[in-house]
Amino acid sequence: MKAVFVTEFGGTDKLRHEDLPMPTLGDGQALVKIKASGVNFIDIYFRTGLYPAPPPVVLGMEAAGVVERVSAGVTSVQPGDRVAYAMARGSHAEFAAVPAWQLVKLPEGISFRQAAASMLQGMTAHYLTHSTYPLKPGDTCLVHAAAGGAGQWIAAAAKLRGARVIGTTSTAAKADAARAAGCDEVINYAEDDFEYQTKKLTGGKGVDVVYDSVGASTWEKSLNSLKPRGMMVTFGNASGPVEPFPPLLLNQKGSLFVTRPSLGHYAANREEIEWRTGDIFRWLLDGSFKLHIDHVYKLSEAGAAQDALASRRTTGKLLLEP
Ligand code: NDP
Repeated sequence: MKAVFVTEFGGTDKLRHEDLPMPTLGDGQALVKIKASGVNFIDIYFRTGLYPAPPPVVLGMEAAGVVERVSAGVTSVQPGDRVAYAMARGSHAEFAAVPAWQLVKLPEGISFRQAAASMLQGMTAHYLTHSTYPLKPGDTCLVHAAAGGAGQWIAAAAKLRGARVIGTTSTAAKADAARAAGCDEVINYAEDDFEYQTKKLTGGKGVDVVYDSVGASTWEKSLNSLKPRGMMVTFGNASGPVEPFPPLLLNQKGSLFVTRPSLGHYAANREEIEWRTGDIFRWLLDGSFKLHIDHVYKLSEAGAAQDALASRRTTGKLLLEP
C-alpha cells in the first residue's frame, strides 16, 4: 500500500510517498481502508522530529474510511462500517490499523470528508471549551489563529458555550472567516498589539482564558491578556515551542494558571470520545458549525499540503485522499 512517511527528519523534501507493507492487525484493532485523512500541524512536528518517533514515521493522525477487517474479539465495529478516528498515527496511507475503541461509526449524513476534517480539531475544540477551561455565559476567551483549522472549531464551540469570543488572525480575509466561525471581535495581530486591543475590548480587565495554539511568539502577551486568576491554555507550537519559564512569573502576572494539554489525554476512553464526537457530529448536522475545507489534496501531495499549512496560507481544513 502507498503511505506518506519519513525515515529522516527535516523539510517536506524528506517526505516519501512510497509502498510500505500492509499494517498487521494487533489485538483489539481494526483495519481501516482510508477514504480521507486530515492534515494537521502535528504532522509537521512528526516530520521535523519536534515530536520524536522511531522511523519510519508514517504521518497522519486522523481519518475516515471503511472497516476492512477486525482482529479476533473486536465486536464494536465490523467490516463494512463507515468509521472515523483521531490520535492514532499512520492515517496518511491507503490503510491503517487502528485500536477499535478509538473508532466511531459515522452517522447518516456525515461524509468521509466531513468526518476526516472534524475528528481531531473538533474534539480539540470540544475538550478545550468543555473540559480544560469549561466556558460559561459571561466568560470572555481569546482564541489565537481563529481562522485556522483548530481555531474555527474553538471559536464556534466557545460561542455555543455562551462565551464572548475574541479572535486573532494575521489577515483581513482570515478575520472574516474567524467572524463567520463565531468570533465576536477579531484582532489583526500582524498589525495591532493584541495585548493592548484585548485589554481595550475588556475594559482593562483581561480575559478569563486564552486558547493559544501559536506558542512562542504569542506566549508573553497572552499571559498579559489574562485577568487575575485567568487560565493560559497553551496547546500548540505553530510559531515554535514556548521556552521554559519560572513559576514566579505566574504570581507576578496575577496568580495565573497555565496548562499544556493534549487531545490524547482528553479523548482517553470510549466515554469521552463518544461525548465529544456526538456533539461535533450534531453541530455539523444542525449547522451550528459550518465546516470550511480549504483544499483536498492527493495523498502524494502531502508535502504541498504541509507547506501551505506551515506558511500560513490556509484557512480551515486541509485533507488528503488516497
Ligand atoms: P492551523 O490551521 O491553525 O494553522 C496554523 C495557523 O497558526 C496559521 O494559519 C497562522 O494563522 C497561525 N500562525 C501564527 N504564527 C505562525 C507561524 N509562525 N507559523 C505558522 N503558523 C502560524 O493549524 P492546526 O489547526 O492544524 O493547528 C494549530 C495548532 O494547534 C498547532 O500548533 C497544533 O499543534 C495545535 N493543536 C494542538 C492540539 C492539542 O491537543 N494540544 C490538537 C490540535 C491542534 P494566522 O495567519 O492567522 O496567524
